[in-house]
Amino acid sequence: MMKRVGNQQVTQRRFMSIKVKWAVGTGLGVLVIFAIFALLLFQSFSSLLLREQRQETQTVVQAVTSRLNTTTEMTPATVRTALGRQHQTGNYQHDVYSTLAQRNLCATVYGPTGRLLFMTHKPAVSFYRHAPEERVTTVQHHTVLVLKQPVRGKNNQLQGYVQVERRLQAYDQTRIRLAVTFLILGITAAFASALLAYGLAAWFIRPIDAINTTIGKINADDEGQALANVRVPVMSTNDELTELAVLFNDMLNRMNRYVEQQQQFVEDVSHELRTPVAIIQGHLDMLNRWGKDDPEILTESISASLQEINRMKSLVQEMLDLTRAEQIEVHFGDELTDVREVGIQTFNNIRMIHPDFDFVLDNELTGPTMVNVYRNHFEQILIILLDNAVKYSQKRKEIHVSMDRDERSVQIVVQDFGEGIAPENIKKIFNRFYRVDKARSRDKGGNGLGLAIAQRLVEGYRGEITVESVLGHGSLFRITLPLAKTNTG
Ligand code: ADP
Repeated sequence: MMKRVGNQQVTQRRFMSIKVKWAVGTGLGVLVIFAIFALLLFQSFSSLLLREQRQETQTVVQAVTSRLNTTTEMTPATVRTALGRQHQTGNYQHDVYSTLAQRNLCATVYGPTGRLLFMTHKPAVSFYRHAPEERVTTVQHHTVLVLKQPVRGKNNQLQGYVQVERRLQAYDQTRIRLAVTFLILGITAAFASALLAYGLAAWFIRPIDAINTTIGKINADDEGQALANVRVPVMSTNDELTELAVLFNDMLNRMNRYVEQQQQFVEDVSHELRTPVAIIQGHLDMLNRWGKDDPEILTESISASLQEINRMKSLVQEMLDLTRAEQIEVHFGDELTDVREVGIQTFNNIRMIHPDFDFVLDNELTGPTMVNVYRNHFEQILIILLDNAVKYSQKRKEIHVSMDRDERSVQIVVQDFGEGIAPENIKKIFNRFYRVDKARSRDKGGNGLGLAIAQRLVEGYRGEITVESVLGHGSLFRITLPLAKTNTG
């Protein structure tokens, strides 16, 4: 069933708990395996019981036949005499008759043509001369074992047949008892394993339940506080699901960080824009009230406002650069730039616009040195570093640039001998809008975004930017960029 929620289509399925599925599956599995084993056991037990019964019946058949063998010609009278009670002095012979009198046994003797000569009871199974020597049949729900044996005279002449039937009562009872026992055991085992499986499943999937509850809480919270506060309680089971809960929490933390960064960015931007807007508003208010006719105030206000508008323009441009610098890999991964050529050119350009500075270039690159970087981005990085070197060098106006390479990467170092950065601030200078001295940096046209842009650009191209600085003595910025594969040697 499809249900529309907002703009999303959510597929609703009938919920069936993993616990129930697992329990039913395990129960059925155990039942099938048990049934197979029980069937095999039942069969082998039955054939064992049957073998015993067969041996006993065989003994009876042998006893009867051995008696009959002494007679020459079998008639009902001779047979009856032969199988009757006999006691010889000092020699007790097997009392065949009393054996045959057992209720579950029925012995019959037939002549060679199949004529009935003798019977202990009325036989339940009819006699056929060509019937097999052993048969197991069912008569009135009872299993009956029938053994037949020919009786032969002295010259191996066929004199008749002996047939003994045995009603296998004990065999039937044991088989029924066995079947009932197996059935009860099987069902009990299936139930027990289903219960156990349910319990284990419930125990194992606790972390999933915890994750579900957490997601539910975060979804239900319209104010967005839950994303920052609610986390999955991590269990001590230390298995894949615990790992899942930990990973899920990490993901939530990361999402929360992104949301907070986003909020921070909006706050920072609003804060940065507030000052120029307030200054322009102040000037316009002043003009509106009494400055319109005073050409001096008019000129001053217009030039101050223009200056602020230019600042806002550069701020907007830098924020745009920053956003774009975060998507480098997608757009500029295949660009090729010669570090040596662009480096020298940018160096010369900056030197030209700052004639009061002493620029020194130490170039160790002997030939074209290609990197997979978009040319404008490489220029931008160099300009940011050189521009900062100029901005933050008041006393000693000297800037050193060096370019070098190794097997895998190229390094560009920009060093100045200016005011330097205190250790506690060094980590923060790459943050957006961070300026060590806000007012002074602002005077110099800084928005605190230059290094943030440079860092994102360099890292976007899988490079690295590091800084070493001593307060009052100067700073050294080093960029390392991986060489493009097209470089030889
Ligand atoms: P800004 O536009 O203010 O220069 P950046 O991101 O380029 O912003 O730099 C951030 C801060 O780092 C600067 O405000 C300044 O305090 C410090 N900084 C950057 N480069 C240097 C340098 N070469 N020497 C001393 N301080 C520097």
